[in-house]
Amino acid sequence: MARPRILLARPLPDAVTARAHDLFDVEQRAANTALTRAEMCSSLVLYDGIMPTLGDLFDAPIFDEIGNPRCKLLANFGVGYNHIDVEAARARGITVTNTPGAVTDATADIAMTLILMSARRAGEGERLVRAGNWTGWNPTQMLGLHVTGKRIGIVGMGRIGQAIARRCHHGFGMSVGYMARSDKQLDFPATRADSVTDLAAGADILVIAVPGGAETRHLVGSAVLEAMPPHAHLINIARGDVVDEAALVAALTEGRIGGAGLDVYEREPEVPQALRALDNVTLLPHLGTAALEVRTAMGMLALDNMAAFFAGEPPPNVL
Ligand code: NAP
Repeated sequence: MARPRILLARPLPDAVTARAHDLFDVEQRAANTALTRAEMCSSLVLYDGIMPTLGDLFDAPIFDEIGNPRCKLLANFGVGYNHIDVEAARARGITVTNTPGAVTDATADIAMTLILMSARRAGEGERLVRAGNWTGWNPTQMLGLHVTGKRIGIVGMGRIGQAIARRCHHGFGMSVGYMARSDKQLDFPATRADSVTDLAAGADILVIAVPGGAETRHLVGSAVLEAMPPHAHLINIARGDVVDEAALVAALTEGRIGGAGLDVYEREPEVPQALRALDNVTLLPHLGTAALEVRTAMGMLALDNMAAFFAGEPPPNVL
């Protein structure tokens, strides 16, 4: 039987590309940009499987346009899949998989990076030094929020939320509150809040770790931001559309919250000038999983899903 023909939608770590070539008849895009609509349509017709990723907007109209695709598998590179309409894909007989687990620790680490950078004003301090404007240490210079022992509120207590909570509890002696759709059996103390607003009101640091998409769009808007104590920091490592970016800009500009640390944005890679102009926000370019071994593990997991699917076995991470 002919080997399955697959499309890798981006350049990937060498080890992932090499294994893909061992397993399949591979086409790999050289561009690091999202697939265009025309590319998405043609790829559904030309390939048995596609490894898409963030930015490749496989929405319902794409599947409607193709009708009866040759493609039977979208093996997403990444755990977040809000760019793929999974129901619409399934209706056309396309299985969708993702790469949970491989991303958890690295993304939790980036959350800790942002918590510390935002609370301790690390980005602002670094800019001060680089600009040659540092006049020297003094007892009241650049005072930030002490993180050890504070209260963290985590919106979304899934894999990444729990990994953040563990780091905060064991590493920083913090007390943990969370919001999720269901109660969690956890191996550390944590209190579940009834709503994001209640969680925000009692947190020194509020971290967003829910998936993006229609259900969570603007879950954090002006009401939640107003509930936050004025010294509190908002950290978003999940998806940009979970936070109402305009409301966040207003809260930061008016100094209604202590600061924010963002890895994700509503219209990536566009970051509003109003945000870029503010000193009380730390801005990272979606670095959550940006380490070679993590991206390699993600690619290998996506290939595991492809290999199982085309061998007629259940893929490990079907959505
Ligand atoms: P996960 O294990 O599925 O956890 C998601 C959590 O969110 C669960 O606790 C879930 O509650 C909760 N949740 C889902 N929908 C909700 C809603 N409508 N209201 C309240 N809570 C809701 O996912 P994960 O592996 O931790 O990943 C979380 C997200 O992080 C991904 O979807 C992705 O978008 C993002 N991410 C970002 C990066 C980055 O580079 N910055 C990297 C990796 C992942 P239940 O448990 O009760 O269902």
